[in-house]
Amino acid sequence: MQKQEKSFGIQMLSVQPDTKPKGCAGCNRKIKDRYLLKALDKYWHEDCLKCACCDCRLGEVGSTLYTKANLILCRRDYLRLFGVTGNCAACSKLIPAFEMVMRAKDNVYHLDCFACQLCNQRFCVGDKFFLKNNMILCQTDYEEGLMKEGYAPQVR
Ligand SMILES: [Zn+2]
Ligand SMILES: [Zn+2]
Ligand SMILES: [Zn+2]
Ligand SMILES: [Zn+2]
Repeated sequence: MQKQEKSFGIQMLSVQPDTKPKGCAGCNRKIKDRYLLKALDKYWHEDCLKCACCDCRLGEVGSTLYTKANLILCRRDYLRLFGVTGNCAACSKLIPAFEMVMRAKDNVYHLDCFACQLCNQRFCVGDKFFLKNNMILCQTDYEEGLMKEGYAPQVR
C-alpha cells in the first residue's frame, strides 16, 4: 500500500548576503528577505508558505507541514480533513475524521455499524440502546441478557 499523506519539516534559514537570492516556490519572485523557509526541497517567503485551508503562515504555527493531493496544509486542517476519529468499536476499522459517527460512551461507530450487535436492529432517533461488555444492544436483547444473568448466583 502506498502512503500518500506525509508531513514535512520546515526550516527557517537566514539568507547569506553573498549568495544569489533564491526563487520562492509560492510566488516565483526572488527572496530578498533576511530569512526564508525551506520546505519540500523548495524555498519560500515566510508569507508564501501558507495553509491552503486556513491561510495561516506555516512557518509560524509549527515546524511541520502536511501535504495531500497537492495541497499544503497545517496540521490542524490536515487532521480535520484526512485524519481519523478512531477505530469503530463494532467493525474495528478506522473512521476518517470527516465521516459522521455515532458515539456511545468512549466508543465511536460508523453510522452503518451502529446497530444491535446481536440482532442487527438499527436504532432510530429516540430509540433506547444499551452498552454491555462494550457491545451495543437493543432493549430486547439487553433485557434478555439480564434475565439470563438472573439465574447466576449473586456474588457479594
Ligand atoms: Zn513568495
Ligand atoms: Zn490550516
Ligand atoms: Zn464500523
Ligand atoms: Zn437486538
